[in-house]
Amino acid sequence: MKSTFVTKEMVEKIVKDYPTPFHIYDEKGIRNNARELKKAFAWNPGFREYFAVKATPNPYLLQILKEEGCGADCSSMSELLLSEAVGMGKGDIMFSSNETPNGEFTKAKELGAYINLDDITHIDFLNEECGVPEVVCMRYNPGGIYELENGIMDNPGDAKYGCTREQMVEGYRKLMALGVKEFGIHSFLVSNTTAADYYPTLARTLFELAVELKEKTGAKIKFINLSGGIGIPYRPEDKKVDIMAVGEGVRKAYEEILVPAGMGDVAIFTELGRFMMGPYGALVVKAIHEKHIYKEYIGVDACAVNLMRPAMYGAYHHITVLGKENEEPEYIYDVVGSLCENNDKFAIDRKLPKIDRGDYLVIHDTGAHGFSMGYNYNGKLKSAELLLKEDGSVKMIRRAETVKDYFATFDFDDLMKPYL
Ligand SMILES: *Cc1c(COP(=O)(O)O)cnc(C)c1O
Repeated sequence: MKSTFVTKEMVEKIVKDYPTPFHIYDEKGIRNNARELKKAFAWNPGFREYFAVKATPNPYLLQILKEEGCGADCSSMSELLLSEAVGMGKGDIMFSSNETPNGEFTKAKELGAYINLDDITHIDFLNEECGVPEVVCMRYNPGGIYELENGIMDNPGDAKYGCTREQMVEGYRKLMALGVKEFGIHSFLVSNTTAADYYPTLARTLFELAVELKEKTGAKIKFINLSGGIGIPYRPEDKKVDIMAVGEGVRKAYEEILVPAGMGDVAIFTELGRFMMGPYGALVVKAIHEKHIYKEYIGVDACAVNLMRPAMYGAYHHITVLGKENEEPEYIYDVVGSLCENNDKFAIDRKLPKIDRGDYLVIHDTGAHGFSMGYNYNGKLKSAELLLKEDGSVKMIRRAETVKDYFATFDFDDLMKPYL
């Protein structure tokens, strides 16, 4: 059974100030998890997590992670600015962009970010725009099919990211000639995997590459960035990743490959999004309609604008009907939003207790790639984000959008003025 970090009583109190729908985040859960990750990699003195800002781009949440020692992983100007706003400075930011627009490398360099080049042609682009910094990272794509022990695989050969092995060597040489002093290696091969061997397997691949790059080019490798991709248990039957075992697996590979090569000073970086925040966010909605046609529908006051993953990927998000946690799931519902899009369904054929109008539903695990993927289809507005603080109080960390926000980009003449 999956439990919620908010209860019916708490939600009934919260809605007096902040009506549904809203995303709410659990500060205690976020901090404990960040500390556990740090502990799992404590054997590596340079270890650092750079939170993938795109997962949950809220400065108040970034601040919490910063207090826990995390940096930020950015790939756009807005994400760089969010990180700057919370005081991320030299060495606190990874800039893992791709197809990078003009101006972003300049800003990243100004902030003292580690620039992670997605392609060998970006070397000239970066150099012409703002000159190369002293430390540069390059993103690796091994191509082909990437398979883990339990059969989980992905297809890097089809992915747009990263450089080939030959380009890594050539790129390092070119960067050294331009004056780069220290290097990083980055790769992101499998997304949302709860397989405990993902990081250790990836680490082996990257450690071997690091040794080869050092031997072929003489480059000084400062860090290896295992990037994101560690999954979370979205379904009740899914297991939580044993992060201590993951850390130990990476340590073993480190001691077998890097240490004998005289590279025992390389720092391990991660760039996790989902793992850091996913389970510690929830979307709270209210059942406002029920409909009985060929199927049974429950209409809620949120829609795919607030959480796009079910519509976009058919992703499973667990649902708890608050106050009915112990009732039998005797009904089968489609839980749907109000978009004029038939894929706007938070759950399809889901077994749930009987839902009555006015019931509050918690849609679980929306803390990463939840609010942030939202759009404004049908002119629907984005919700507020709230923080459940460690002391049990609730703080608004983003207000809900209003029609004024929606129409704000028509402020160049008078037509929409009455609404602005
Ligand atoms: C999206 C992304 C991440 C985070 O991925 P998660 O699956 O949320 O861990 C990390 N690094 C890069 C470059 C990304 O694009």
